[in-house]
Amino acid sequence: MPIRQLSETMINQIAAGEVIERPASVVKELVENALDAGAGKVEIVTAGGGLSLIRVTDDGSGISEPELALAVARHCTSKLSDDIHDIRSLGFRGEALPSIGSVARLSIRSRTASGDSAAEIGIEGGRVLPVKPAAANRGTTVEVRDLFFATPARLKFMKGERAESSATGDVVKRIAIAFPAVRFTLAGADRSTLELPATGDTPDGRLARVAQVMGKDFPDNAIPIDAMRDGVHLAGHVSIPSYTRANALQQYAYVNGRPVRDKLIAGAIRGAFADVLPRDRHAVTVLFLSLDPATVDVNVHPAKADVRFRDPGLVRGLIFGAIREALAGAGIRAATSGAAGMMAAFRPGTAPYAHPGPTAGHRSYEAAYHASGFSGFDHGSNLARSPQRPLDMGDARQPRNGFAENEQAAFDTGPVASADARAGITEPAEALLGMALGAARAQVHENYIVAQTRDSLIIVDQHAAHERLVY
Ligand code: ADP
Ligand code: MG
Repeated sequence: MPIRQLSETMINQIAAGEVIERPASVVKELVENALDAGAGKVEIVTAGGGLSLIRVTDDGSGISEPELALAVARHCTSKLSDDIHDIRSLGFRGEALPSIGSVARLSIRSRTASGDSAAEIGIEGGRVLPVKPAAANRGTTVEVRDLFFATPARLKFMKGERAESSATGDVVKRIAIAFPAVRFTLAGADRSTLELPATGDTPDGRLARVAQVMGKDFPDNAIPIDAMRDGVHLAGHVSIPSYTRANALQQYAYVNGRPVRDKLIAGAIRGAFADVLPRDRHAVTVLFLSLDPATVDVNVHPAKADVRFRDPGLVRGLIFGAIREALAGAGIRAATSGAAGMMAAFRPGTAPYAHPGPTAGHRSYEAAYHASGFSGFDHGSNLARSPQRPLDMGDARQPRNGFAENEQAAFDTGPVASADARAGITEPAEALLGMALGAARAQVHENYIVAQTRDSLIIVDQHAAHERLVY
């Protein structure tokens, strides 16, 4: 076969193969465009997991009528001047809209602030339809129907409505964390509505947005990070070591406001937590890196989720160091001083036996702590959140879970799981699992403690536990 130039549509479909992997990638590109246009509100509607319909409406700057045809043409962008090293927008490649238009039915209806009416353009499987007048408020509505109708092979790889819907939800949440001043809604018959009212681009507003997306218990169980090194700024939050997940999906990272999935960042986080987390647990993190755009390359892959830092060592060191320092400040302080009290509670026979009586659920944690008679805790630290806090925060007369417990209580395991409830603490079940060591039943060879929880037997290597706490 002779060499020949590919058609525009084929070029766009090849590009779409990289950029538009699934409905969630369409949503990502369209939402990025809305944000680049300065939108204050972004409304997303999907149907059929996004395969039959994706509609993104924004109140941003809009596209003027004469520019509509350019917007859907390949390599046309309003975001890149002459310097590929100075990228300050989410988009810059000028290929999302033509790519989507080559594999689906796309329509764009838009109106600028100065335009007295709106206009609309369509593109179906690469065929551009004529621009026509339309009615719309200021801003842009992009509608994508029948995604991958023009590339049936890709369509076959879709995972089903639910999986696609949830991938889209994840994309919206991920990007929303970086834009707390923007209101996002995601709705459709194929999903439960996600509403994220604007919280404002202030430290409080940013944390409020994080709470909207990740749930309120994350901020309650997180330590702030704020560090600067050689012009690179790192801010955000990381979970305390007792608040973990079975995978790293809840590690959000942003480089100059762009959501990224970066191995270097993930590795630095893992390294920083290595000493305080079991290998199969993952911290929850939201980290924002800000640096001179010229020192980071975002043009690594068309999907723009990969980045390359000019000085990877600097970024890795900054993340690693800042998290370690924050963990030390928040957790280890409680741990070192708390260890003595805890070990006292471990030693058999140091506390008098008492019948398990009615619990004191209304008591505050602090009150429980004082009543316990422990000493040496650092009150400045957040004891209640410390993964290394004493096992039993009941008072000394009712050491139900302390290792000082008399074996006569051997079959009373009920209150164990509610130790925290008695102390007025509510924590995620996962966190409890990580620390409820249960009621001590015996000590073997002066080193192994055999404990019982509601449904399991736990053997604690006392020396290892001690070392870990002190560390
Ligand atoms: P890129 O975002 O890389 O520039 P796109 O293909 O995504 O490429 O978009 C092409 C151009 O269309 C953008 O540069 C922008 O000028 C315009 N555009 C796209 N979406 C919007 C929108 N929601 N509001 C305003 N302008 C838009
Ligand atoms: Mg774009």
